[in-house]
Amino acid sequence: MFPRQAMHVLKFAIVGGSIGGLTAAYCLRQAGHDVVVLEKNTVDAFTNIPLCSLKIPPNMTRLLKHIPDIQNLFSQKGSIIPGFILREGQTSEIVGKMEFMTEEIRAGLRSDYYQVSYSDLWKHFYNLCNGCGVEFKFGSEAIEIQPAKVETDFITVLSSTGEVVCDIVVGADGNHSIVKEILDKYEVILEKTRKNVDEESKEEPGPEPWISCRLMVPLLRMQTDPELSILSQDNWENAWMCDGISYICGKDPLGQYYLIHVLCDHPRYFDLQETEWDDPLTEVPELLKKVEEPRLRKMLELATSCHITKQTSKVLLNNADKYNRIVVIGTAAHAAMINGSFNSAIAFEDAFTLGYLFSHLNFPDEVPFLLHGLNEITQRHTKIVRASDSGVLRLFCMPPGPEQEARDALFRQTLQHNQANEDTLELLWNTYITQFDYDAKEAVEEWWLNWMKPIQS
Ligand SMILES: Cc1cc2nc3c(=O)[nH]c(=O)nc-3n(C[C@H](O)[C@H](O)[C@H](O)COP(=O)(O)OP(=O)(O)OC[C@H]3O[C@@H](n4cnc5c(N)ncnc54)[C@H](O)[C@@H]3O)c2cc1C
Repeated sequence: MFPRQAMHVLKFAIVGGSIGGLTAAYCLRQAGHDVVVLEKNTVDAFTNIPLCSLKIPPNMTRLLKHIPDIQNLFSQKGSIIPGFILREGQTSEIVGKMEFMTEEIRAGLRSDYYQVSYSDLWKHFYNLCNGCGVEFKFGSEAIEIQPAKVETDFITVLSSTGEVVCDIVVGADGNHSIVKEILDKYEVILEKTRKNVDEESKEEPGPEPWISCRLMVPLLRMQTDPELSILSQDNWENAWMCDGISYICGKDPLGQYYLIHVLCDHPRYFDLQETEWDDPLTEVPELLKKVEEPRLRKMLELATSCHITKQTSKVLLNNADKYNRIVVIGTAAHAAMINGSFNSAIAFEDAFTLGYLFSHLNFPDEVPFLLHGLNEITQRHTKIVRASDSGVLRLFCMPPGPEQEARDALFRQTLQHNQANEDTLELLWNTYITQFDYDAKEAVEEWWLNWMKPIQS
């Protein structure tokens, strides 16, 4: 998977066994390191969850080609998303279109935009990890980390099932990360020498907090209504853009459900209570069903499951502590929008970057450089992802008024001749599309050639 393996072997303890944690575990093993994963849930919590679907944009699909048998998984269990149809929230009028899968775009990106069920992707990585000697501790909730006091100390993770002593703790523990909390609590953020990276990484804070929900409508129910069944005949995503809230709807990869992803940034939604992935609500809260457009309202009435996440844009501090013993990746490090286009991709890319960088480790004293590299590479990318997520929220949840009219006028251009001119596309989607081109592998290779190779040789 990587051109070489580390000459100096470290022990990594990864907190969190979801997409970010499993990818990190697999990549670090491929890089030659010892890995133990602590996950608070049981295996069943990942394999028996109600159907969840992850978006796999081209930047992630290309990177996944380095993972064994992934193409089989996609061809058997995934589906391709051709693009978005954008609808005015009250009238359902189609005001815009974004097509990913034109010949030209596909040729440029060398990959499709997929979706695949969470459980299927999770099981794929879990099997790979088991096959290459990753140790798992399921039902182990990390509670505390005893920090290293000097650079040479080991670090200890205290969990509900005992202690794990290791060289480096990787926090892949998601939205309410305890590892990130501990990192912040110790205030052991990298020193002033890295201030420039910090400054560069600062950005306009996104809207905060925001809510993202995933609702499921059984496809059979949709198909009994001619007005609704027409929506489920292809894999296009339909986005209804309303005031303070938007509903992005499409078929799940296995064709059993119509999934409705709800994004809202208006304070009137902030009292909604979060739910666990394996225990969603069986009734959609009334607040989410208050829409005027009759087709959308009917769909919301038919939904049988509702999962709610609340996110706050995290301050972009450095991703490692000053002794280079704790590092955070994925959702634990930065709040990419859950149910969005890039939340899985960025977790996967962070983990891949970590593994690839540590395949270059020759001596223990190189660890700080490699973590510095991780920080630099991931923060730059995170900044773009967050700008895109904020842009999507702002565009799709715009209140009525002149700004919304200007948005729709621009969107309408995308309906002419099937495509907008390049300037319009760039104006609307530049930040979003830019990420499709991101290549985490190339980012590591470039960083290594510029910074690490000269030091090692
Ligand atoms: C079961 C499940 C289903 C999901 N389904 C979807 C979906 O359908 N669509 C979507 O867009 N996103 C979904 N997500 C979120 C998605 O996986 C992430 O947004 C993205 O992949 C980034 O992943 P991550 O590994 O960084 O964090 P997460 O996927 O959030 O995983 C964090 C992991 O850390 C574990 N954990 C947390 N605290 C501790 C602790 N103290 N000790 C030990 N373990 C801990 C959690 O149990 C979880 O497994 C789901 C997440 C989970 C856990």
